[in-house]
Amino acid sequence: MKTSEDRLAALGFSTPLLISGPCSAETEEQVLETAHQLIAHVPQTRVFRAGLWKPRTRPGSFEGIGEQGLPWLQRVKEETGMLTAVEVANQKHVELSLQAGIDILWIGARSTVSPFIVQEIADALQGTDTTVLIKNPVSPDLSLWLGALERIENAGIRNIIMVHRGFSSYIKTKYRNNPEWQIALDLQQLRPDLPLLLDPSHMGGKRALLFDLCQTAYDLKYDGLMVESHITPQAAWSDAEQQLTPQALGEMLQRLQQKKPIVDRPEFQTTLTALRTQIDEIDAQLFISLGNRMKIAEKIGRLKQQNQVSIIQTERWKEVLLQMKQVAQEQGLTESFVEEIFKAIHQESIEHQAKFYNKSDD
Ligand code: PEP
Ligand code: MN
Repeated sequence: MKTSEDRLAALGFSTPLLISGPCSAETEEQVLETAHQLIAHVPQTRVFRAGLWKPRTRPGSFEGIGEQGLPWLQRVKEETGMLTAVEVANQKHVELSLQAGIDILWIGARSTVSPFIVQEIADALQGTDTTVLIKNPVSPDLSLWLGALERIENAGIRNIIMVHRGFSSYIKTKYRNNPEWQIALDLQQLRPDLPLLLDPSHMGGKRALLFDLCQTAYDLKYDGLMVESHITPQAAWSDAEQQLTPQALGEMLQRLQQKKPIVDRPEFQTTLTALRTQIDEIDAQLFISLGNRMKIAEKIGRLKQQNQVSIIQTERWKEVLLQMKQVAQEQGLTESFVEEIFKAIHQESIEHQAKFYNKSDD
């Protein structure tokens, strides 16, 4: 079976593949200046991205310059030699982009989530040999991502690259979109032949988070990055908080470390295995402790029922959460992590209490 590297090589790319450019094309000058600065500071950029049709969460914000930006991208290609990429969300976008000679089309997270939209794009692509990037869907659901992939493959498209940009979550974390690394790793395992890129910009949502996310992508053997860049990020018409100047992008990429293959270093492998064994033991212990905790919750459920006391006691929950946050702080854990874990434990605990609360004694 082909590897993801073979697939990229067949497209003329080496790993890691770097795609960069502004969130949105704003003016011809901004597009061309960003492209020229990229080539100057980050010459390994092979594909220039710019959104022309922007899927904004709420109406009223900048919704993209539309088809008038297509000739700007043609100029980028002529003047810099980079390939060009835009987001498409319907048949019209696909047709206009292909007529304008755009090389790569991407399906955004808000489109991957909808089988109707993906099917419309797939139908419009039928019979072409376009390269298509498929971003993960907004919701943390691997099957939606796979479904989009299948629709595009069924249209005869062979050059597909998957992009992990993180997932929405109702629990607030430091990320704009939660990584949920496991979903992407499951995808990598199911389809090791498909190149997988990380989009740290939409995942992090803030410049300060980009470096660590990119390093994780390298450590997890992703095939490349899709990162937003802008000549004046603070003044960007969309996603101002997360874009980097081409110069800052070049500097950040230089700080990333490409890890050497594990086979070179046998003692490293032994130490890693030993540490992983310890982690596995701790994980098992964690779940045994949680099981014990739930058994006590069941006893409390029974006691509350016998005394006709309601299960949810807000004051007690606030108090326990506060105590746990203090313990967690001493252990060097972040507050959002503790809150997230504790909400899940509390939810499970309520369910266990309720099971016994509703059981009659006879
Ligand atoms: C984008 O890449 O500009 C974009 C809108 O991304 P996403 O679909 O990941 O939100
Ligand atoms: Mn963006």
